[in-house]
Amino acid sequence: MQYISTRGNSPAIESAQAIMLGMVPRGGLFIPENLPTLATEELLGLNYQELAFAVLLPFFGGKNKNYSEEEIKSFIAAVYTSEKFDDPQITPLTLLDEKTAALELWHGPTAAFKDVALQIMPYFLKAAAKKLGSRKETVILVATSGDTGKAALEGFKDVEGAKIIVFYPKDGVSKMQELQMLSTTGKNTSVVGVEGNFDDCQNMVKEIFSDDDFNTLMSFKGFQFSSANSINWGRLAPQIVYYFRAYLEMVRKNVVKMGDVANAVVPTGNFGNILAGFYAKKMGLPIQTLICASNQNHVLSDFIQTGVYDRKRKFFKTSSPSMDILISSNLERLLFEITKHNAFKINRWYEDLFQKGEFKLDDNTKNTLKNLIYGDFASESETRIEIKRVFEKYRYLIDPHTAVGFFVLEKYRAQTEDEAPAFVCATASPYKFNQAVYQAITGDDSLKDEFIILEKLAALNNGKPPASLMGLKEAPILHKRVINKREGRKVIGEILGISIGAVN
Ligand SMILES: *Cc1c(COP(=O)(O)O)cnc(C)c1O
Repeated sequence: MQYISTRGNSPAIESAQAIMLGMVPRGGLFIPENLPTLATEELLGLNYQELAFAVLLPFFGGKNKNYSEEEIKSFIAAVYTSEKFDDPQITPLTLLDEKTAALELWHGPTAAFKDVALQIMPYFLKAAAKKLGSRKETVILVATSGDTGKAALEGFKDVEGAKIIVFYPKDGVSKMQELQMLSTTGKNTSVVGVEGNFDDCQNMVKEIFSDDDFNTLMSFKGFQFSSANSINWGRLAPQIVYYFRAYLEMVRKNVVKMGDVANAVVPTGNFGNILAGFYAKKMGLPIQTLICASNQNHVLSDFIQTGVYDRKRKFFKTSSPSMDILISSNLERLLFEITKHNAFKINRWYEDLFQKGEFKLDDNTKNTLKNLIYGDFASESETRIEIKRVFEKYRYLIDPHTAVGFFVLEKYRAQTEDEAPAFVCATASPYKFNQAVYQAITGDDSLKDEFIILEKLAALNNGKPPASLMGLKEAPILHKRVINKREGRKVIGEILGISIGAVN
């Protein structure tokens, strides 16, 4: 498969190159030139691993700078296992009532959905470096709003020929998320706190990627940067798999008849997860409406409703920190797709966003977007109430991100009277955001010790907290760097053992 740039500023390249580069060197994102289609009814008998192969093969399979069938199979066999995922279904679907299900995407090692892609992506990347004959060490730079960081660290930990440096907003992640990251072992891992919010971290990393001088210097010293953020196609494609999985499970459980439509609800931040849902639909999956659920930082749901993307607004720290984002990178891919690959428009809009902090769609594109995606948001109090409502109604625990999804689904159903079966992507384990969940259900905010709350929450649910989270209690803190947002290049130099006095 060949990949092209959303800004028309790159020749078409092969899949291994797209993974290696992460994003287009001069700005823009890689997308597949042509989308494969799959016949959903032929996939019904497949298990997760077989389904993953069917979905990933057309994107990555091929000669030269692509991957062989054996490679793809071996990557899948290495990661979608019962050692790494604590449910044999990998992404099990739990039915709550006859038309509502939760797609549990949090059974991987770091208890959030990003594991599904970040466990397999290092295999693609490592093989890419080999295929492309790169003798440079790959340095993965990650900006994280909390969950990507740990998932990427776990995925890349001790991978030969790679180093990983994670930047996170120092006061913008949950306690569990921070402990998870700062206790990461592995010879090749670094975690750096940044004084600022997620957008500051993301902008810093994007700037470094497109800084020619800095990249030349790094290359001279034997390093090549790449990205594990969802701007990397290697992150997107593995997420398409579980949309197929969810629909097929709904068919197996008699919630929908094969071929009938279902709706998908996605708690959204950087637009990566929902974009995978969009691609699944384009590939033939009978998803009718994609429901984009935002939190208090509802730049995206406003955009869907008005056609104006306006990032000039107050940034809120919420109980769903992985969605605290004002610049949703992957939206660019969607816009490129729905304008039928109009790089001219994309360039203009993103230039506007950069210069003026906003851009406005033409009516045509706006209507296409509205027909495809429904967007709305949940406030902090609505999120809290939703956690409690879902627990009391179904005895089912959801985390604040997932609660935003459930709330917006209710709103959608009330507004549109569309009662089609729907699944909500449950993007994190409730135990990962134990404090917010416990408070929402019990109203008790007196407890401060994370691990006591973890146990109390588990008791409410007649269960046990995940061992991976309980284990953090004793885990030593191994990473202590904190920088301001102008010190990214300097700290990278320090970590890689390079003096970069001349460049900053
Ligand atoms: C990353 C994340 C999201 C947002 O996903 P995007 O792909 O950035 O839209 C939602 N919930 C959780 C728990 C996450 O970790």
